[in-house]
Amino acid sequence: MIKAILADLVRIDSVSSRSNAEIVEYLERRCRALGLITRRFPYSDEHGVEKINLITLTQDVEEVELALVGHTDTVPYDPNWAEATNLTERDGKLYGRGACDTKGFIAAALTALENARPGKPLALIFTADEEVGLVGAKKLAQTKPLRVRYSIVGEPTSLKPIRAGKGYSLAEVIVKGREAHSAYPALGASAVFRAARLINRLESIATQLRQDQHAAFDPPYTTLNIGLIHGGSAKNVLAGECRFTLEWRPVPTQSSEHVLELLNAAIAEEMKADPDFQCLVDASRQDTGFETATDSPLVQLLEQATGNEAGTVAFGTEAAQMKVLGAEAVVIGPGDIREAHRTGEFVPVNELERCAEVLRQSIQQLC
Ligand SMILES: [Zn+2]
Repeated sequence: MIKAILADLVRIDSVSSRSNAEIVEYLERRCRALGLITRRFPYSDEHGVEKINLITLTQDVEEVELALVGHTDTVPYDPNWAEATNLTERDGKLYGRGACDTKGFIAAALTALENARPGKPLALIFTADEEVGLVGAKKLAQTKPLRVRYSIVGEPTSLKPIRAGKGYSLAEVIVKGREAHSAYPALGASAVFRAARLINRLESIATQLRQDQHAAFDPPYTTLNIGLIHGGSAKNVLAGECRFTLEWRPVPTQSSEHVLELLNAAIAEEMKADPDFQCLVDASRQDTGFETATDSPLVQLLEQATGNEAGTVAFGTEAAQMKVLGAEAVVIGPGDIREAHRTGEFVPVNELERCAEVLRQSIQQLC
C-alpha cells in the first residue's frame, strides 16, 4: 500500500518550476477519503505559476496538537533517467525523483494516518517550493492559518530525529570603484582592491564567530562563505565594480542580523580609512534556524520509536517556519540526504515502512 502511494506521488512530476496543482489534487483526494477536511492556500510564485500550500485536518479547528509536514516539490531530474517518474524497486530500494526527498515521508504519513485513530486534532501540511528557498512554508509562517503544538517535518534523515538546525542567510555585496587606465591608477579607484580589503575583514569575522560556540552542531559555530565574486571589465582597466555573495549559517542562538552588523561595522572601518569607499549590501535571505530541547516530549518519543539519538543539521528546513506557528519541531524521514537531489535517488523499503510505523506511534501518543 505504502509503495503504491509512493509510486502515485513519484508519477506526478512536481519539480519546483511547475505548478504543484496536480499533486495537491491527488493529496486532497486521499485525505478526503480518510475523512480529513482540506484547505488550500494558493499563491503565485515569482514566475506567475500557481502554487498551493495544502492543509488537511482531522477536525475543523484553528489549533492542532500535531502536524506532519511534507513538501510537494522536488528538484529537477535528468530527462534520460527513465525511473525518475516511474518508481522502480531493486534490492530493497525504491528509485525515483522525490522517493527520499520528500515523497517517501508523505507516503509514510498517509499510511500512518490510515492505521491510527487520533483523538486530538491532527494536521497534514503539504507545502510548495521548499527546494527553492522554503517559499511555501514561509507564506504559512507569515499568514499563520493554523497554530501547531508539535510538528514532525519530513526530510531524509535516515530516521534520525533532528531537533535543531542552523539558519541560512545570504547577501550580495556590491563594492564600487572608478574605472581608469591601469597605467594611471591614481586617476581611478579599483573596486577589486577595495573588495579584497573588505573580504580580508570578513575572514577575520569568520574566525571571531568561532567564539560563540553551540556544542550541538558540527561545526559548533556560525560559518560564513564567499562563494561567488565578480569584478572588473578588462585586464588593463581599474575595476569599476566588484560584487560578491556572502552566505552565513547562524547557530539558532544567534540572530541572523549579527553577521550583518559585523559586516556593516567592517564597511564603516573601510570608509574611515578610505572616505571614497562605496559599498551596497543587498541582504536577500535571513532564514532563522530552530532548536527543540532534548527533553521535549516529541524528541524523546521519536528517539524511543526509532532507537536513534537526536541530532542537528547545518542546513535550513521548514522546521523554522513550524516554530513560528508555535510548534516544537523535529525533522525526520526515511532515506539519506546524500542520496537526495541525485540521479538514482532512492529510499530503502524497510526505512519507508518503519517511518510509517514511527509516525503512527507518534500520532497515537500525542493525539
Ligand atoms: Zn526536502
